[in-house]
Parts: sequence; C-alpha cells; structure tokens
Amino acid sequence: MIMSGEMERIKCLIIGSGPAGYTAAIYAARANLKPVVYTGMQMGGQLTTTTEVENFPGYPEGVTGPVLMEDLRKQAERFGTDIRFGIVTDVDFSVHPLKVTVDGEKHIEADAVIIATGASAKYLGLPSEEKFRGMGVSACATCDGFFYRGKDVAVVGGGDTACEEATYLAGLCNKVYLIVRKNYLRASKAMQDRVFKTPNIEILFEHNTLELLGSDMGVEGARLVYRKGQPDEAEKTIKIDGFFLAIGHHPNSEVFQKYVKTDEQGYIVTEGASTRTNVPGVFAAGDIMDPVYRQGIAAAGSGCRAAIDAERYLGELEAQQH
Ligand code: NDP
Repeated sequence: MIMSGEMERIKCLIIGSGPAGYTAAIYAARANLKPVVYTGMQMGGQLTTTTEVENFPGYPEGVTGPVLMEDLRKQAERFGTDIRFGIVTDVDFSVHPLKVTVDGEKHIEADAVIIATGASAKYLGLPSEEKFRGMGVSACATCDGFFYRGKDVAVVGGGDTACEEATYLAGLCNKVYLIVRKNYLRASKAMQDRVFKTPNIEILFEHNTLELLGSDMGVEGARLVYRKGQPDEAEKTIKIDGFFLAIGHHPNSEVFQKYVKTDEQGYIVTEGASTRTNVPGVFAAGDIMDPVYRQGIAAAGSGCRAAIDAERYLGELEAQQH
C-alpha cells in the first residue's frame, strides 16, 4: 500500500532503461512530455550484458551493448529526459493520477506511465545453484567471464544466448561445456556454426544438471545426468569453476500485476497493435510485453509506439479537462 509522504507530480513516467525505455524517453521528451525515467537495477537493461550487437540498424560495423545503451541514454538526455537511478517498489493504478513508489520511499503521481521493465534471466532452481550464486554461478558471461580466464566453465541452454555466451567464454577460458537438455540446439544456424567451429567448446547434448559441487571457495564441479529415464541413463561429474545460465528470461511484471493484465507467463497484455494496457494511461513496451521477438530493435520500436500512445492519451486527457 502506498503511504502518504512527499509527492512529486509529473506528466510521463517511464519505468526501465533498456532500448524500450530510452526510445520512449526520446519520443516523449521531444513531444514535451518532460519524461522522468527510473532506470531499475540494471541501468541500460539486458543489452549492457552483451558483447557485440550486429543487428541493431544504424551501426554498420556493429556496436557493443554498453556503447549502444550509452548512446541511447545520451540521446534521451539531449532532449531533456530526467534519468534517475531507482527501482519501482509499489504502484496504485486504481486512481488517477497514477501512483508509483520508488525505492519504498519516493512517491510520484503521473498522468501516464510507460512500463519498460524488460525481463530477467531464469535459473534452474537447484539449491546448490542458489548457494553458489555469485561464487561461480552467473547468468551473464560478459559480466563475469573475465574472472574465469584460463579455467573450465559450463554454460546451460541451447538457444542463441547460450551459444553466444559459450563462444564468448571460449575466447577467455580453457574449456567450455555447453549443457543442452535436448539432442539439438535451438539457436540460429549462424550461431550454431560458430559453436561447432570453436574447438574448446564441448557440447553435452541430452544432459541435465543435478547439482553443483564446491566448497567455501565456490563452484568446483557439476553433477550431470545423461538421458534421464532412458535405459542408457548415466551420471557424470565435470570439473568446472564457473556455471553460466542461459535458459531464457522471465518478465519483470510482478509489481504491476495487481492492476495490469498479464498472460500466464507474466508478460503484460497490450491492446492489438498498440501499447495500451487494461489500465487507462498505463502503457507497456519492450520485452515486458513481447514474448515473441525479444530483440533490442523490436523493444525500441515499441518504446516509440508507447510514447506516441501516451502523448495521444495525454492530449485527450487535457482536452477533457478543458
Ligand atoms: P531461448 O528461450 O531461445 O532458449 C532457452 C534455451 O534454454 C533452450 O535451449 C531451452 O531448452 C533451454 N532451457 C530452458 N529451460 C531449461 C532448463 N530448465 N534446463 C535446461 N535447459 C533449459 O532463450 P535465449 O535467451 O537463448 O534467446 C531468447 C531470444 O533472444 C531468442 O528469440 C533468441 O533468438 C534471441 N537472441 C538473439 C541473439 C542474437 O541474435 N544475437 C542473442 C541472444 C538471444 P529447449 O530448447 O529444450 O526448450
């Protein structure tokens, strides 16, 4: 429940600082909505944990994720966006203006809110994985790979992220195991080819992780099972110092779910091709409402649409008040 206290009144609040949030900010600022962006925990969003981005239009030579996000931030600031570090901890969307609490203490009233909180990495849910979180267990190779130079590591997953992370780590580490639960990779052909061509990646198809092994010093190995439930089921242990998750993401919508309609996975449901949610004045953009495309440029595109939807909504609101 939102408590009373000092209240700041703004026109347009944008929650999240990935490509969706910053693009919404560029458009909203240029439309004179004086947007305030709260960045969330990971300023710049998921792309800041990526290395080379080759498919964002406008960068013919490619760009690194952190540089791309820095460029978007600067572009949003150039038009007067107020970018602040903070995490939205509560909302009350049953009233207008919409109420939002940041870091449990800062209260904001906004006429329009754009939710662009993205998605976060999934974990397997093993107790040993929790125990070694930050001590050998990571969901971001580009953030933490540096610590495993010359060592043996494992990456879990068979999608583009897993292949990208495995290839990146192969450039730093002695050996990379890619633990894939099916007997094929789901990643794009180009990404698969890169993995197959990298000599120090060993793909363990049809393997699942049972437990991580280690000591107070962190991860030292993993116990795996091959073809669980099949006649040739077999367990094996690999020696590793790092265990990287790349098994997908879940949408960061928990704080909004009391008011904003989501699907069964937690992705915010928007109306048709618009970014409108079921709550008037609340819009959603980027990975938080897109379980299908999940690309930086797709997120940026929906951020643009959210700002335009918000601008139109605010225009209508103003017209009603006069
Ligand atoms: P995906 O959902 O595509 O892949 C997840 C992988 O993790 C699958 O192989 C899945 O296995 C496996 N997995 C899921 N849960 C478990 C589990 N509990 N135990 C073991 N394995 C598990 O996620 P990604 O993050 O790889 O990609 C997300 C999207 O982003 C995709 O659309 C992808 O194309 C895109 N992307 C594009 C990149 C690029 O173009 N440069 C880079 C990275 C991502 P299974 O196949 O059995 O379901």
